[in-house]
Amino acid sequence: MVETQLIPRGIKDTRVLDAMRRVPRHLFVGEPIQFKAYDDMALPISEEQTISQPYMVAIMTELLELKGGEKVLEIGTGSGYQAAILAELSQEVFTAERIPVLAKIAEERFSALGYTNIHVRASDGTLGWPEESPFDRILITAGSPKIPQPLIEQLSDQEGIIVAPVGDRFSQQLIILKKSNGSLSEQFHTPCMFVPLIGKHGWGGNKDF
Ligand code: SAM
Repeated sequence: MVETQLIPRGIKDTRVLDAMRRVPRHLFVGEPIQFKAYDDMALPISEEQTISQPYMVAIMTELLELKGGEKVLEIGTGSGYQAAILAELSQEVFTAERIPVLAKIAEERFSALGYTNIHVRASDGTLGWPEESPFDRILITAGSPKIPQPLIEQLSDQEGIIVAPVGDRFSQQLIILKKSNGSLSEQFHTPCMFVPLIGKHGWGGNKDF
C-alpha cells in the first residue's frame, strides 16, 4: 500500500508513511472484507459509513504537519483507523463520532491495540469538544458544506491547522485552514468524496439532500 499507492502519489512525510506501515488497517474492517483492507479504495464499515481510502488518510494526515507534541481533534471516528494513525504521530487524540455503535466499536479496537492516547465520544462533532479546546490540529473526515464555526473557535491561535473536505453533498475539496495570531488563511487542495457530516453545523440530515 505504501510503496504502490502512497509514495507514487507524492506522500513524502516519512513519519506518515511509517505510521501507515505500522497500523494494521485490516483490523479496522469486518472480517469478510479484510482481504481488501490494503486496496486502493474506501471500504464499507457498518451503519452505511466508510473507512477512507488509504491515500486520502495519508494526504489529510500529511497536511496536518504533525511533529509529535500536538493535541488533535478528529470529527468522524468511523472505524477508528484515521484516529490510530493520528495517535502514532501526535501527543493526544480526541475523536467524536455521531453514531454511538461506531464509537463503541472503535473504542474497543483502540484498547485491544494498546492505544492509551485516544479519547472517543459519541457526539455531534460539529460542536467540537469545548472542554478540551484549544486543539493544535483538527481533522474532519466527513464532507461538510463549510468548516463548522465552533471548530474554528476551538482551534489554537498558535499555528493551528484544520483539514476538512468542504463542498456539496456529492463532491468536496480538501481545505486547509490555518490560524495564526487571530488571522485565518485558507488553501484548497485535493478533490474528494466523503459521506456527509451531519449535525448542527454540518448537513441537517435528509432535509438537505
Ligand atoms: N475517520 C474514519 C475512519 O478512519 O474510518 C472515516 C470516517 S467516515 C468517512 C465519516 C464518519 O463521520 C462516519 O462514521 C459518520 O458517522 C461520521 N459523522 C458524520 N457526521 C458527524 C458528526 N456531526 N459528528 C461526528 N461524526 C460524524
